[in-house]
Amino acid sequence: MADKRDYYEVLGVEKGASAEEIKKAYRKSAMKYHPDRNPGNKEAEEKFKEIGEAYEVLSNDEKRARYDQFGFAGVDPNYGAGQAGYGGGGFGGFGDFGDLGDIFGSFFGGGRRSGAAQNAPRRGENVGARLELTFEEAAFGCEKEVAAQRIENCSACSGSGSADGVIETCAQCKGSGQVRTVQSFMGMSMQSTTVCPSCSGRGKMIKTPCATCKGKGKVRRTQRVKVKVPAGVDAGQSVRVRGEGCVGANGGPNGDLMVEIYIKRHPIFERDNMTVYCEVPITFTQAALGAEIQVPTLDGKVSYTIPEGTQTGTTFTLREKGIPAVGNPRRRGDEKFTVIVETPTKLTREQKELLRQLDDGLDVKSSPKRKKFFDMVKDFFD
Ligand SMILES: [Zn+2]
Ligand SMILES: [Zn+2]
Repeated sequence: MADKRDYYEVLGVEKGASAEEIKKAYRKSAMKYHPDRNPGNKEAEEKFKEIGEAYEVLSNDEKRARYDQFGFAGVDPNYGAGQAGYGGGGFGGFGDFGDLGDIFGSFFGGGRRSGAAQNAPRRGENVGARLELTFEEAAFGCEKEVAAQRIENCSACSGSGSADGVIETCAQCKGSGQVRTVQSFMGMSMQSTTVCPSCSGRGKMIKTPCATCKGKGKVRRTQRVKVKVPAGVDAGQSVRVRGEGCVGANGGPNGDLMVEIYIKRHPIFERDNMTVYCEVPITFTQAALGAEIQVPTLDGKVSYTIPEGTQTGTTFTLREKGIPAVGNPRRRGDEKFTVIVETPTKLTREQKELLRQLDDGLDVKSSPKRKKFFDMVKDFFD
């Protein structure tokens, strides 16, 4: 983890980037490295995680401020707090800063005073998952299951890491988790305190490590988790499922599961925020004479009377037939539908003749746009 890159660098934005720029950069990179687009590509997977982590911090004003001021130490609860539990580095990608913690430990003469910090309750990490919904599921809400990959207590050893339950006090540090070293420097002897190398600061030693978790007490597992998706959720938003992230350490609370929402394309509808858009083809006759047409909405078909002389491309609004507001489903956006006049094809000889007769009978008053256009053309060339 020593090669952890700066979050701004990860997203490829300037330090002073706006929230919008950060969001844009994240979306672009996340699309590129998404596991679905790069199946089996470990490097892309790592990149995707890295991007997600950077975005989680930089998209949150409070976290970003702390990161700007304190770096990684400002935003990661595990930072510098040691490697209790799964410090072996076996869980790459979950923000394990065990080895960096050691460096800080020796830099600052044993910044971690005793075993207290090791044993302090710590919240588990958040984990992410992706959920693809249909247009209607996103509009009206639904209950789904996602696969969440997270760190849990090992069930074989109940999280102790020991196969037989025998846990001994570390012989080197006598359980304190730290050792004193004396160094000579230009004739002076300097004493410093560092994390005990035998027990990595835990103060305890496991005689026979649990075979399932290799003594870590934690395992990485994939669980099916139920997600309640609220009505009105939009693509790119995340739904938080509290307590379904990684297990906390020393009785600390679990992290959360953040489910990022994707929405499948709908054959008829599109949406922008709470507004639903669709196109309705109409015939030349309906446009000319006006007609009652059937318009599809999220609630089913609705009758709508378009007026005589409707032009192609005209947009009409159906109030409150759009997407419900998140958290307030009784408030709804509108639907805007645009009529498209379809020019008839494959006409019979008789039909063509009728149209010609019709055209001969039309005067300038019936197509004012066309008259105006040709007047302009005339002015232009004369
Ligand atoms: Zn175990
Ligand atoms: Zn020790």
